[in-house]
Amino acid sequence: MTSFSDSIQQKTDFSVEEICSLLETTGEGNTASLFSHACRVKNAHARRGVHFRGIIELSNICERDCLYCGIRRSNLDVTRFQMTKQQILDAAAWTHKAGYGSLVIQAGERRDAGFIDFIEEMLREIKKLSGGALGITLSLGEQSKDVYARWFEAGAHRYLLRIETSDPELYRQIHPPGYSFEERVACLGFLRETGYQVGTGVMIGLPGQTVAQLASDILFFKENDIDMIGMGPYIPHHSTPMFQKPLELSVDSRFKLGLNMIAVTRIVLRDVNIAATTALQALKSDGRELGLQAGANIIMPNVTSTEYRTGYQLYDNKPCMDENSEVCRDNLVAGIKNAGETVIYGQWGDSKHFCKRKGIESSHDSATVSQLSGHARRLEQC
Ligand code: SAH
Repeated sequence: MTSFSDSIQQKTDFSVEEICSLLETTGEGNTASLFSHACRVKNAHARRGVHFRGIIELSNICERDCLYCGIRRSNLDVTRFQMTKQQILDAAAWTHKAGYGSLVIQAGERRDAGFIDFIEEMLREIKKLSGGALGITLSLGEQSKDVYARWFEAGAHRYLLRIETSDPELYRQIHPPGYSFEERVACLGFLRETGYQVGTGVMIGLPGQTVAQLASDILFFKENDIDMIGMGPYIPHHSTPMFQKPLELSVDSRFKLGLNMIAVTRIVLRDVNIAATTALQALKSDGRELGLQAGANIIMPNVTSTEYRTGYQLYDNKPCMDENSEVCRDNLVAGIKNAGETVIYGQWGDSKHFCKRKGIESSHDSATVSQLSGHARRLEQC
């Protein structure tokens, strides 16, 4: 039985073995006590309430060929799309009007000059249309330090780059030859040096993945001083090479392990932002709400133009394919209320961990903090 004595509640240093034993929590009573402990930690140390980041999946064109991903370059069954400038700005304006404090811009990976310029221009336009009010997270893969800096200067201030797994050998198994784990880690360093709030994460329940590897993933987040976590269960996509690989865990077990990962990451890392991801919802319709109850505090509702949603399927059974942004929001808000959580509108909801490492502690500071990035940057709610 997992018990959370006062000493565990105060604990900040966990060994791999201790993390494994928490991750292996099973049974209704034990799991409920793990999750309620994680929520106590969340309420004591992390940003309060639930923050929305509207996600625009603006293109499925991808140079990469990751063996698990439905939009990999070699998947010729996918009709490739790229949202237009106007469609992106309309989605951003909708997000702003809906009171979501932030946007996430995600796409397949491209490193050509045309794409880099396009993103830079979009960032400036989005900042303009919201009078600087929308916070912007990017999730556009591995880029050069120079590109990260250009996008930061143009207005992005958070970046999500999942490490996928912190085990170099497992990383090698799920990517084509030549993809470098070390380069991906180096990118996380570049992002941090540039001044971004840095997000990473892993897939949970990959073929051959052990609980000890997941425990090491949590320690990787800690050692790399990560500010934000986005992680979710691995879900096979029918036209990828990994679809053939047998899975050790059932859908139910991968889902439960996904929730346990959120709870244990919250307990070990405390003050980071953790997203309840769409992959949880793909396995269970109220998966994201359950993610909040396990210790997450961020949700990324889809605000992509409905006509492109089916084109962005990284895995099978992705939910919310034909619902427009209003319907997605209304269902979600009702579910969150049912889960006893509160949505916070109109704020960036920055990671407290980031604010602390930057030495900004005041609770309602919206001053211009120019020393952070070399140019004026408004840090809300740090
Ligand atoms: N091109 C960007 C965005 C990638 S998509 C980048 O490389 O960072 C965002 C995330 O979706 C990936 O990092 C991966 O963790 C997740 N993903 C991809 N395929 C998946 C699958 N089959 N099951 C679950 N998650 C998947």
